[in-house]
Amino acid sequence: MKNRWIDSEAAVRASEDKDLGLRVYTSQLLGAEADLVLHGGGNTSVKGELQNIFGETESVLFVKGSGWDLRTIESAGFPAVKMDHLLRLGELDSLSDSEMMRQLRLALLDPTAPTPSVEAILHALIPHKYVDHSHADAVVAISNSPDGEARLQEIYGDEVLILPYTMPGFILAKQVAEAVADVQWSSLRGIVLLHHGIFTFDEDAQASYSTMIELVSKAEQYLEEKMAAAGLAAATYAPCVDDCLQLSRLRRSAADVMGRPVLLRLETSNQAAGFASMENCHDLATRGPLTPDHTIHTKAFAAKFTDDLVAGLKQFQSEYRDYFEKHSDESHQCLDSMPRYGVWRDKGMVYLAPNQKRLGIVQDISGHTIKSIQQAEHLGGWQTLPSQDLFDVEYWELEQAKLKTSAKAPEFEGKVVLVSGAASGIGRACVQSFVEQGAVVLALDIAKGFEAQFESAAVLPVHCDVTDSVAIDSALRQMVIEFGGIDIVVSNAGCFPASQSLEDMEDSNWEASQQLNLTSHMKLLRSAVPFLKNGINPAVVIVASKNVPAPGPGAGAYSVAKAGLTQMARVAALELGSAGIRVNVLHPNAVYDTAIWTDEVLASRAAHYGVSVEAYKTSNVLRTEVASVDVARAVAIFAGESLAKTTGAQLPIDGGNERVI
Ligand SMILES: [Zn+2]
Repeated sequence: MKNRWIDSEAAVRASEDKDLGLRVYTSQLLGAEADLVLHGGGNTSVKGELQNIFGETESVLFVKGSGWDLRTIESAGFPAVKMDHLLRLGELDSLSDSEMMRQLRLALLDPTAPTPSVEAILHALIPHKYVDHSHADAVVAISNSPDGEARLQEIYGDEVLILPYTMPGFILAKQVAEAVADVQWSSLRGIVLLHHGIFTFDEDAQASYSTMIELVSKAEQYLEEKMAAAGLAAATYAPCVDDCLQLSRLRRSAADVMGRPVLLRLETSNQAAGFASMENCHDLATRGPLTPDHTIHTKAFAAKFTDDLVAGLKQFQSEYRDYFEKHSDESHQCLDSMPRYGVWRDKGMVYLAPNQKRLGIVQDISGHTIKSIQQAEHLGGWQTLPSQDLFDVEYWELEQAKLKTSAKAPEFEGKVVLVSGAASGIGRACVQSFVEQGAVVLALDIAKGFEAQFESAAVLPVHCDVTDSVAIDSALRQMVIEFGGIDIVVSNAGCFPASQSLEDMEDSNWEASQQLNLTSHMKLLRSAVPFLKNGINPAVVIVASKNVPAPGPGAGAYSVAKAGLTQMARVAALELGSAGIRVNVLHPNAVYDTAIWTDEVLASRAAHYGVSVEAYKTSNVLRTEVASVDVARAVAIFAGESLAKTTGAQLPIDGGNERVI
C-alpha cells in the first residue's frame, strides 16, 4: 500500500491549522484508499486545545463526526468534545447506547456540531495525540481465516496488540482500556480488533498515518505470498436478451418487497464473473460480510441466484426471516427482506438498492468482499463472525441511524427513465429534471461527443441512432444491466426538415422526416415494451408538436410524421393499457431554447413577421415564452403519480394557440 504523504501538501495544511489541519490531511489520505475504508467506515481523531467563551483553555478531542466520510472530510467534520468528560465516561461500569450518544452531544463545545463518532470514548482513552482507525481489507481478511489471530501475531510480533471481536461503542472502549491497563503504550504501534479493523497512534500525524500504511502493507504482503501464483478467479460473461428480461423481472419483484422503486445492477467484470464461476460461490457469499460494519449496507449475507432470479429472491426472503427470528428479541423490528447483493451462478454479481448512490456503495463493498473471501480461502477457509454478532450490528440502533435521512425521497428516486434526443433542448431539460428528482436516466442521442455533458453517475449517456433497431436494443440492454429496467420512456428525438410544399417535396426530405419523426419512435417503443411490462408504474411520454392540431403550409414532411406519431401513441395507449403502461402525448410549440433556434434563425423569423425577437417569442395567447424546462415539467407530470390514471391524452404546451384552442 502506497504512503500518500507529501511534505509540501502537509506543510500547507499545517500552516492553516497545525493540529487539525494535519488531522484533516491524513484522514483524507486514509479515505483515498478504498482498501482501508469504504463509505463512511473508519474514524480518526486528534487531541488539542480550544478556548471557551470565558477565555479558559479546554482539552478537547477532535473526532470524526457522524455523516462524514474520511475521503472528503473537512475540519467541520471534527466536532470538539471535552476530554475530561470523555475520560470520565470511560470510567463508568456501563453506559447504554442512547445515554452514550446523549453524553457525547453534551460534551460538545459547540452544540450545533455533528454528533461525534461512536468510538469517541475509545479515541480519548488512547493516550496519543493522533489516533487513526481503518477497516483495512488485508488485516480483516486474515482475521477472517482459520488461525487468523495466530497469523496476525506472526506478522506483527509484539508491536501490535490483538484483541478479540467486541461490539463497537462503549463496550469496545472498555475492552481496550482493560486490555492495555498493563501494557506499555510506548511498546505498542497498533491494535488489531479481530473481524473489525486496526488502530494506529502517535504524537505525530505523519507517524500515525505512516504506521497504518506500514502495518497494513505487512498484511498485504503476507496475503500476496500465501496466494503465490494462485490469483483471484477470473471469468468473462456477456449477458443475453433473456438475462436482461430476467433482471427486470427481479427488479420488479424486489420493488414489491420494498414497497418502493429500487435499482438493480449486474456486474460481469472479470472479478465478479470469476467469483460467480467458483464451484462454492453460493456457500462463500452467504457465510458473512468482511466486517460487521458492512451489514447496514449489504445485510449479513448474499442472495443465491441460479436460473430463476425471482425464485432466488424468494429464497433469500425466507432465509432472512429465519435469521431475524433466530437472533431477534421483542425490541427488534424486522427490516425489509430485500437482498442487497447476490451471486448469479456462472454469470456475475447482482446488486440491489433504493437509489443510485446506495447501489454504488453496495457494489464497492461487494467487490472488496469477494476479493477478501478468496484470499481467506487460500489461508484455509473464509470464516466470519457468528451470525448473532452480525445481527447485533445490523440491528444496532446507532448503525441504522446512519442510513436514516429526514428528507422525503424525491418523486422519481429509484426510477429508470429513457430520454431520446437527450443532447439538447427538451431532451436535455428532461434528463436534468429527472436526475434532480432522483431518477437514473438513459440518455440517447446521435450528436457526436454529447456524452461529455452528462457527468452525473445517475446518467448513462449512449450514442445511439434511434432509427437503428439494433442500436436501440443494445442501448436498452446496457441500461438494464446498469440499473435493472426501464420505467419511463420519453420519446423525444426529432428534427425539423427543410420547409417544402407538397408540390416541391423531395423524396429524401419526406422520407428522412418519416424515419426519425415517426418510425424511430415505433422502434424505440417496440424495444422498450418488454421492459416496461416489468416496469414500476410504467409510462411513455411522446413529444409530438403543435403542428398536429394546427399544421402549417410548407411543413408537410414534419406535420404528417408528427400526426402519425400521435396516432401511434393512441394505438399504444390502447394496446398497452392492460399491462398498466400509460402513453400520453405532449404538443409543444415555439420552444426557442433548443439547438434548432439559433439567434440568427430567431432574428430572421422575427424580421419576417416585422416584430422584435421578444414579441416573436411571446406571440401566443398568454404572451409568455415557452422554455425547454416548461416542457420537461409537463413530461414529469405525465410520467409521475399526479396523472397516474390518465392515458391516451394529448396536452398542448405552447402558451396558448388560437388555432389549437
Ligand atoms: Zn471501526
